[in-house]
Parts: sequence; structure tokens; C-alpha cells
Amino acid sequence: MPSPAERMFGGSTPPAGVRCKGIDTMELYSTLSRTVEPLVTLNPDRVSLFVCGPTVYDYSHLGHARTYVVFDVLVKYLRWTGKEVFYLQNITDVDDKIINRANAEGVSQSYLSRKFETEYLRDMRAVGIDAVSYYARATTHIPEIINQVGRLLARNVAYVTGSGVYFNVDTFERNGELSRQHRTNRVSRVTDATKHNPEDFALWKFGEYGEYTWDSPWGRGRPGWHIEDTAISEKYFGQQYDIHGGGLDLIFPHHEAEIAQMESLEGKYPMVRYWLHTGFLTVKGEKMSKSLGNFITIRDALQTWNKDVLRYFILLSHYRSPLQATEEGIANAARALEHIRAIAIKDTGVNKEGRKAFTDAMESDLNTPMALAAIQALAASGDLGALKEFGEILGVNFLRETSAPISILQDIRAELRAKKQFEVADMIRERIVAAGITITDAPL
Ligand code: AMP
Repeated sequence: MPSPAERMFGGSTPPAGVRCKGIDTMELYSTLSRTVEPLVTLNPDRVSLFVCGPTVYDYSHLGHARTYVVFDVLVKYLRWTGKEVFYLQNITDVDDKIINRANAEGVSQSYLSRKFETEYLRDMRAVGIDAVSYYARATTHIPEIINQVGRLLARNVAYVTGSGVYFNVDTFERNGELSRQHRTNRVSRVTDATKHNPEDFALWKFGEYGEYTWDSPWGRGRPGWHIEDTAISEKYFGQQYDIHGGGLDLIFPHHEAEIAQMESLEGKYPMVRYWLHTGFLTVKGEKMSKSLGNFITIRDALQTWNKDVLRYFILLSHYRSPLQATEEGIANAARALEHIRAIAIKDTGVNKEGRKAFTDAMESDLNTPMALAAIQALAASGDLGALKEFGEILGVNFLRETSAPISILQDIRAELRAKKQFEVADMIRERIVAAGITITDAPL
């Protein structure tokens, strides 16, 4: 069995000085350190990644696609380098928005959340997102959540009031480390005059919330917003793991609260070393969001553009930059992708420099715009093998699907041209072009 490096360079050993595949050379920007750091995982062969999943009360939009395509590509790249990646995502299926919409529609919370979970998974598949190892619902992890709240109370970092159980931010010295926010700028959503500090956040909310209400040692209620993630990630990974991802909007208060909860359990630091945050997909400068009503659902976008075009468009920008969603931008991406397919016709073998440019770009904090520039070069040089292999990592098909008879005709035509029998070669060319297939001849 050839090594990943040999496979990468077409069976031969890589050229001197070439860093091969992502093994030990991947660098990622972590919001925690605000620097690009080499990726050193807790276990050298394994990567544990948790990405905040959706709140399932409506259809997913292009903003969600942006974030989840990025993590899909990261995981596919790391797996391609030979690492085993456990990619965990939670599904928030207990939340005010779910309760409100279920009430408005006269259906149960479980009906509504299961319906939109199914639609979410369908939309993700439709844009080629299939790298998640396990989806974990909040409602199927209530014992783990109650257990974690109990341990936080036992450690005296949480307290009970008339409205719920709260985390006491005074007990956590590193509060604000991720968001670098001063305490006075931070206020929790829950207003309760008996809270010790305005920033203290709910771990458990007392009350009757219909179907999704559970008994706990402190009273009936449901989980707060942040506790499901740490209960789920602790169950599958323990108190420390490698990478945590999500959109920029989650840094505060959500990720900050997760850190406070998890690191307070047994004092293990850091809960996660690599905090990856995606920039927003924007419309006229504003974040695409359900609440602003400026969203395009993934399924609507797929009526006009196919998944290759949408992914190519998303990957043309670096994941940390904002990405303007405009029709013109997507149309430009479609044209650029079509150009690659038009020039990637004849396989002329391995382009080592082009392949190295691709892996270098991917390892430089997942620089997909540079990786796509390398793809252009690989297409121009005719390294169809690389286009196929890297296309699978990016989830974009860079090769035009050519039927077997057309490929045979193209081969015959190449032979004819080599023998200078241009008249018949041109006749075949005209017929192929008439069938809608672009042909770019290499000089003889
Ligand atoms: P939500 O269902 O709103 O909790 O979002 C699920 C994930 O999608 C989170 O990681 C969000 O940060 C991300 N997300 C939502 N809207 C956008 C957007 N406009 N651009 C990029 N990511 C987004």
C-alpha cells in the first residue's frame, strides 16, 4: 500500500523539500490565541472536532451553508492526510424559537424539531456536506446535562434561585479570555434580580414548557442555552478535545460560557486549543439571518445554482473573511468553475508543483482561495488526477462528465491530429462541440 505521500505524488516519492500532505504541517488560526498555530492534536493520529449545530425551527439558509461547508472541507482535508477525525455536531432541539413556532403552528415541539432536523440534513446532503461523524440531539442528552449541572453546583460555581440554576461567573477567572471582552460589556439574556451578577447565565430554567420539560433534583424545567454543548462534548470526547468551531456570532456569550462550564468541572485547561470561527455570509453588509429576514434558503439557491457552484463560491473566500452573497458573485464563480472544466480535458500527468501549491494553501489556515488558484493551475497543466482527488476534498466536481463514447472519440481525434489527418479530426471536433462539449487542444 503506497504511503499517503506516494499516493499524492502519483506513486513516486515527493520532490526534496516538499512537505507532504497535512501531516504535522497544518496550521490553523485560533480565536483563543489570536494567532496561526501548528495543529498539534491531543492524540497524534486523531482529531476531535465539535461544531455547533443548528437550532432546528426553520429551513437552513446560505449563511449556514457557508459555515458548514468550511468545516466539511476541513474534515475532508484532514482525513485525506490520513488522520482519523471524529466530527461531532449537536442539534439544538429545545429552545424558545422551537416552542414559539410549534405553538404558532399548533404542532408538538418534537414534531416541529424532527421535521426541521430532517430538512437540515437533507439540505446539508444537497450541498455535499457529509463529513459529520455523529449528530447529537440536546433532548437525548438530558441525563448528561443534569449530571453536569449537578457537578457544577457541587463545585460551588453555580447556585439555585427561584427561576433556575445559574453559573456564577465570579468563580471563573478566565471569563472573557476568548472574546477578550471586559466584564461590564457582558450581560446574560436572563433577567432575574436574584442572580449574583448580571452576567451569570442559566444552566437550568425552571418552568413548564410543555412536552420538553424534565424533572431535575432542583425542580422541573429545561436546559439553558450553553449546557447541551458541554454535556455532549464531554460525553464523547472528555473535558478536553482539539477543535471547536462555529460562526463568529457564537464567540460571546455561547463559547465563552462553554469554556466556563467545562473548565470549572475539573479545572482542566484549555478545554479546546483551536477555536475556529467562520466569518459571516452577508447581504448588503448585514449578516444573513432568519431574524433579519434577508436570507435565501439553501433549497431555493439550489433551484438556480448547483452544489458545485455554491461550494466553489463559498470557497473562493477565506473562511474568516466576510462573504458578500450577490447574484453576480455566484455567477462569476459559476463561470470560473466552467472555465476550469473547459480547460481540464486532456490528462497530461502529475503536476508536482501544482499539487504542492494546493496542499500548502490548505495547510495555511485552510486558505481555500489559494487552493482554488492551485486548482486552476492544475487544470491548465492537465493534472486530471489531482483535480479528481482534490475535488473530492473540496466537494466540487472540477471535471466535466464525459461519456465513454465521447472520450473514445477524443482519443481517436488526438491520434488523427498526431498523424496530421486534420480534416477528419476537425470533423469529429465539430460533432463533439455540437454536443455541447468544449475542446481545448494542446499545441501539437
Ligand atoms: P443557528 O441555527 O442560527 O444557531 O446557526 C447555526 C450555525 O450557522 C452557527 O455556527 C452560526 O454561527 C452559523 N451561521 C448562521 N448564520 C450565518 C451567516 N450569515 N454566515 C455564516 N455563518 C452563519
